Amino acid sequence: MNQNKVRTRFAPSPTGFLHIGGLRTALYAYLLAKHEGGDFILRIEDTDQKREVEGATEALQETLKKFGLIWDEFYKQSERLEKYKSAAEKLVRESYAFYCNCKPKNAKVEGFSKELRDPCRDKKLTSGAIKLRVPDGQIVRYHDFVHKKEISWKTDEVYDATLLKSDGFPTYHLAVVVDDTDMKISHIIRGHDWLPSTPIHLLVFDYLVSKRPEIGHLTDILSTETGKKLSKRRDSVFVEQFLEEGYLSEALLNFVLLLGWAPKNNKEMFTLTEMVKSFDINGFQDANPKFFRDKLDWFNGQYIRQLKVGDLNSKFQTLNSKFKALKTETQIEITKLVKDRISKLTDINTLAKFFWETPEVDKSLLGNNYKLHLAKAIEAIENDKDLMEVVKENNFKTGDFFMDLRIAITGSKFTPPINESIEILGKDETLKRLKKVI
Ligand code: GLU
Repeated sequence: MNQNKVRTRFAPSPTGFLHIGGLRTALYAYLLAKHEGGDFILRIEDTDQKREVEGATEALQETLKKFGLIWDEFYKQSERLEKYKSAAEKLVRESYAFYCNCKPKNAKVEGFSKELRDPCRDKKLTSGAIKLRVPDGQIVRYHDFVHKKEISWKTDEVYDATLLKSDGFPTYHLAVVVDDTDMKISHIIRGHDWLPSTPIHLLVFDYLVSKRPEIGHLTDILSTETGKKLSKRRDSVFVEQFLEEGYLSEALLNFVLLLGWAPKNNKEMFTLTEMVKSFDINGFQDANPKFFRDKLDWFNGQYIRQLKVGDLNSKFQTLNSKFKALKTETQIEITKLVKDRISKLTDINTLAKFFWETPEVDKSLLGNNYKLHLAKAIEAIENDKDLMEVVKENNFKTGDFFMDLRIAITGSKFTPPINESIEILGKDETLKRLKKVI
């Protein structure tokens, strides 16, 4: 293998759905590699078996495929346990790590405990968990390629992290370094959450190998409502949920691309192929991006307009069985009619519902002259007369007349253009609805 080949990885834990931030990480890792003709690796970090969710790995693979983020190699950490064990034992032999047989503590608590130095570090034990012997009085540093600056820590602030638990399973800290080394990863790109763990990894890298990969930590994606990091509790964050809500994978990917990266020109619309071509490691932005839902809707609308009518029609069919039950020509007519007017696929469910369901008309929505309006409309439709003529002849207010008509036929104030809608719905059905309201 070419020593300088760009190799990146996406390394999710199989704990559930894919977070929007995870999709962004995967995309950037993919683009970084593919722009240089390199390899993109999918590695499942499943060594914390308590947190694992059944089926999550397969679901994740399916989701990545929907976005075209196809990996060149695939690994599962649980299948590589021997590697971690031997690396940890090597570190012990070389005095960079030590055995500890204290009762295991929760990893999070461990990191925050005041005791950074483990009481077992000089006991020369020969079994138990393996922990990192963090040196005193040193500085560990690296240059972050996303933030384009050096980041450093005093080792006096880094704790003796567990590398291998007494049950033989590695912690994330050890597994990530062993894997990134074995898999010849050239660039690590990951979420900002992992920055506090980085000094531990840097030490392990330095003890195990001569050269570390380049490392970059992404910005946090902020909620527009709270200005804080997107949260699972408050915001919609899961990719699968967005797809279900009617966002197209192309639109979501395009939107996510620009959450923390920008091209040199102001180009906004990118297919995956264009992304690969344009991607530039210098385009990462330093400031935390905001998740503007309106912008996502705009992108989605753009991608919906680009779809062929037939393709959009099939998507509607999958989405709505009542739509699917309509005659094919009717489906196509409806699709054409709504194509320019929706921002999400699921909008069809509300915007076009009146085509397959007789609406309940709330009469309080109708104007004062509705009876006259509808009576004249009925007359015109029965005689195939143009509705605009009716307005003129009777001196009706155009807006009021058509609003009454719209509400009577569809039950709603917001619909596709009423003339075209009437045509699709058919004369008989339209008249039936109008008469019912009068
Ligand atoms: N397993 C970590 C995650 O779930 C990966 C962190 C990394 O990329 O190093 O995000």
